[in-house]
Amino acid sequence: MKILVVNAGSSSLKYQLFDMETASVLARGNCERIGIDGTLTYKRPCKEDIKKDLSIKDHRAAIGLVLSCLTDKDEGVISDASEIDAVGHRFAHGGERLSESAVLGEGEIEYLESIVEINPLHGPPALAGLAACKEAMPSVMHVGVFDTSYYSTVEKKAYIYPIPYEYYEKYKIRKYGFHGTSHRYVSRRAAEMLGRDTGELKIITCHLGNGSSITATKYGSAVDTSMGFTPQDGVPMGTRCGAVDPSVVTYLMKKEGLTPAEADKILTSKSGLLGISGVSSDCRDIRAAKEKGDGRSALALEILAHGIKKIIGSYIAEMNGADAIVFTAGIGENDGEMRESVCSDMDFLGIKINTDVNRNCPRGEDVDISAEGSPVKTLVIPTNEEYMIALDTQNLVIKNSERK
Ligand code: AMP
Repeated sequence: MKILVVNAGSSSLKYQLFDMETASVLARGNCERIGIDGTLTYKRPCKEDIKKDLSIKDHRAAIGLVLSCLTDKDEGVISDASEIDAVGHRFAHGGERLSESAVLGEGEIEYLESIVEINPLHGPPALAGLAACKEAMPSVMHVGVFDTSYYSTVEKKAYIYPIPYEYYEKYKIRKYGFHGTSHRYVSRRAAEMLGRDTGELKIITCHLGNGSSITATKYGSAVDTSMGFTPQDGVPMGTRCGAVDPSVVTYLMKKEGLTPAEADKILTSKSGLLGISGVSSDCRDIRAAKEKGDGRSALALEILAHGIKKIIGSYIAEMNGADAIVFTAGIGENDGEMRESVCSDMDFLGIKINTDVNRNCPRGEDVDISAEGSPVKTLVIPTNEEYMIALDTQNLVIKNSERK
């Protein structure tokens, strides 16, 4: 079975074509700068990457280009678009109703449109990408995989905010959680690495990238996560502030005469690692600046490690223990110093890492960095959200064909 995975953003459309029989990627790439000018990348294993600058007017044009690359006589990996059995679409938000991956029919699309207000950044482009793909591939099944659905098992005590309850009822203001597809993938992979079943493990997964979140998974179900109503909560991120005292926001608005949109911009685009360091939102730049003696860059990294450590500690308390801590995404997979800072002085909680293994951790591989005899295992696992989306899509195709 061949599954196309699509992740549509406001000016980009990332794609991967999977061959599920071999669990391999036949081709992948990205259409960027959609609606501005346009760049298309097309990558296949063991072949030269193709990059073209060309006009990409909208998502419809983007998916047209993707399909023509995939089916190209010389450079293609399939002979016809009809070889694609189904398309899996990444949605950041599935609201309260879409609590598991689903075939996207009229009802689901209407519901996704109705929750755009609480998902203003990701919702509209994802829906535009879906519409374009449905038009280009009308006869195949289109499946939505929602980052939020992993958190459908979180209990009310962990997702209701202590503000007047009517705001939950009126506006659905509650914790939703994000990055769920990544947390789901790495927690399952962690169980495989430990040779155990997720149903018997307590796992804390740290997805640390440009956006960062931490999730507690107890016996196979998510019980808590650091992101909230929006992907703004939790630890400091590249440009997002993470958790701050809410009164800081209203105070700042009064002091600086800010509109809600202006305040939002400061908290989402000018805060986090960039805001603290004043150097960059990119962890590599901040490390380099720290090496040159920049104090605020050093502080930004300390604040991030401190924030992660506090959340790990709170999840160990919430779950009454942990069997494994997992690091994933750009920073989690590549920044050994960050992992070391987070895991230092955690031996009281049973977390001890082997610093040599951690420092020499090979890129792109699953690695156990725990010290010998450490009661809690610490693992580095490259995330693979696209494969998880392809698997869910395949499962729904199989389920549907069995029903027929
Ligand atoms: P992501 O959003 O998962 O692509 O992660 C992006 C973040 O990962 C950025 O802050 C990068 O600086 C960081 N990152 C990527 N590679 C490294 C590396 N080798 N060392 C430190 N941080 C890295």
